[in-house]
Amino acid sequence: MTKTKERDDITIDDVLEKVKAYLNEDEIENIKKAYYLAEEKHMGQYRKSGEEFITHPLNVALILTGVYADSETIEAALLHDTLEDTDCSKEDIEMLLGPEVLKLVDGVTKISKINFSTENEYLIDYYKKIIVGMSEDVRVIIIKLADRLHNMRTLFAIPEERQKVKARETLEILVPIAHHLGIYKIKSELEDLSLRYLKPDVFYDIAEKLNTTKLERDEVVDLMKKKLTNILTEHNIHHEIKGRSKSIYSIYNKLDKGKKFSDIYDLLALRILVDTEQDCYLALGIIHSKFRPLPNRFKDYIAMPKVNMYQSLHTTVFGVDGYLFEIQIRTYDMNEVAENGVASHWAYKEGKNASQLMQSNTEQKLQFFKAIIDLSNNKMSNEEFVNSVRDEVLNNNIYAFTPKGDVIELPIGATPIDFAYKIHTKVGETMVGAIVNNNIVPLDYEIQDNDIVKINTKKDGTPSREWLNIAKMTQTKNKIKSYFTKNEKELNIEKGKYSLEKEMRRRKIPKDDILNDKSLQEIFKNLKIDSLEELYLTIGNGKNAPNAVINIIKKPEEEAPKKVQIVKENNDTDLVVAGIEKVKVNLANCCNPVYGDEIIGYITKSNGISVHLKNCHNVEMLDNRVVDVSWNKEIPGKNYFTSIIVYTNSIDNNIPDIVSHVQMFNIAVDMIKTINDEGKKIYEVDIWVNNKEKLNKLILDLEKCEYTIKVERFIR
Ligand code: MN
Repeated sequence: MTKTKERDDITIDDVLEKVKAYLNEDEIENIKKAYYLAEEKHMGQYRKSGEEFITHPLNVALILTGVYADSETIEAALLHDTLEDTDCSKEDIEMLLGPEVLKLVDGVTKISKINFSTENEYLIDYYKKIIVGMSEDVRVIIIKLADRLHNMRTLFAIPEERQKVKARETLEILVPIAHHLGIYKIKSELEDLSLRYLKPDVFYDIAEKLNTTKLERDEVVDLMKKKLTNILTEHNIHHEIKGRSKSIYSIYNKLDKGKKFSDIYDLLALRILVDTEQDCYLALGIIHSKFRPLPNRFKDYIAMPKVNMYQSLHTTVFGVDGYLFEIQIRTYDMNEVAENGVASHWAYKEGKNASQLMQSNTEQKLQFFKAIIDLSNNKMSNEEFVNSVRDEVLNNNIYAFTPKGDVIELPIGATPIDFAYKIHTKVGETMVGAIVNNNIVPLDYEIQDNDIVKINTKKDGTPSREWLNIAKMTQTKNKIKSYFTKNEKELNIEKGKYSLEKEMRRRKIPKDDILNDKSLQEIFKNLKIDSLEELYLTIGNGKNAPNAVINIIKKPEEEAPKKVQIVKENNDTDLVVAGIEKVKVNLANCCNPVYGDEIIGYITKSNGISVHLKNCHNVEMLDNRVVDVSWNKEIPGKNYFTSIIVYTNSIDNNIPDIVSHVQMFNIAVDMIKTINDEGKKIYEVDIWVNNKEKLNKLILDLEKCEYTIKVERFIR
């Protein structure tokens, strides 16, 4: 059972005694200064448990000496409640101990100041503060963990209802953080204490059972230890063997997963510490030759460290008297990392860089940390944020491997899609399938612990919208969504560029007349946009008409239509103009209306009435030269020239296929050409068609092709 080490008779001497072993005199002097300031400021304050308040910061500092925290951290720990609860000012701290210590105290104070409103807002606030604290200086979070540990040790002093709230918060937020930072010592005690207040009956039941079987287990463990020591010494392996007590929380966890108590306590645990990595493997070989290992229980976390940097060999063997022994083999250095995680850098500090080393280690090695930062940068609702931090970042507990042996940490229920995106966005976007442990699996396969996952990609593979329903992680879904938004944007930019250039060609305006710096500046100013890309985008998405853009620089001129159609002046015409007879009518060659389209007429200066689609952006609706026109009757055999654009998601040449689709409808192809030749192809298809109904059928048909994204009428 975990010992609770709360001490009400603690003094600064207890802390100094510890730090003497690893800090220098100047550093110890600063710790004393910090203590005297804290003592003075907290004078006359008492804790709920009745002790003088100063015992709390002293205990927090003492906990931190256990992970060999540096002097700034110990100083900040002693002062961590002064800004919040006393008249101590930031200047007081900075003057006495410098800006670094102030930064740490301030960081801890910020995390503690949380505004309660709804449960969600409270959690968001808490997570965000922890994230900010961690990104500024991970030492802030380590102080916070020690602070919480001492408060949990003295939790008996507050009302039962608050006990449960604190215990749950500890289990949901602080334990996962301690886990990810690898500070096992603190994590394990926090877990046991949380369980003691959340489920006291379960906690005491397990503790009781452990107690009654302790003697018997101790005897067997001692015997096994002796045997192991003998054989390792025989082979000249310098080592140390420790009996390990399983934490109450870890037993509770296993019981909760349906295991029987007898199965758990029968499993005895030992840890062997050796000098070198080589000795780890040597020791393992020797032990396996003497004690039969249980199949499938060996794990090599030395060659493949866990994401939180943990390294060790794990094996389970049949030991003395037929008892199963779970044995961990690791070096002393690995043990330090296993117990103290990022905080282990303090124990091995080189010069003054331990805290920087810790910080960069936190950021580089911990995928979860990056993931939180990604999430906080992402635009998502508060609820989504809380859910993803809790489900996907803090409670990751599946470890899967790439074929090369890299560990990928995932939440329960994650799919190969999540795995692929976690490796790299590009891998996700081009994936076409997955192989798990040498078997092909469907994309909705749930990845299991220790699965080896190979993602198959294809250079031109693209995500499917369906993946949004399959992927488990919000992060993955956001990446898929942003692919589609970006893709649409890119298409619109290409389309806009094309429309503008085409319009310039049509009006016989040299490119340079419009696309020079001076003209562009004028266009940008006029349309209130910032860049050429944005200009193309606004043209592509229909916000600005290419004609209108050009008109900013070049006054519009009436241009002779290319295909003038002199319509017969009798009732056999296909078009009639309201209130006007005998008028020259022609179909505009920007939007190329076909029989049946919704149309409108525009009186030109010298060429009669030009007929446009009602939604053609070249017709300025407010102009008083607009007249009503309508279709009169369909003339058999008459075909209309028009253009459509086919947007595809493929880089293959689809022209033959498109042509055959068009011909299936008995529509004549005038010309087909590739507008965009780099990456995903876009085609302009010019055709002769007799009416809108047939044209619509063709568009629908083309849209059903697997390579098409969309098909639309082309308005120049
Ligand atoms: Mn505190």
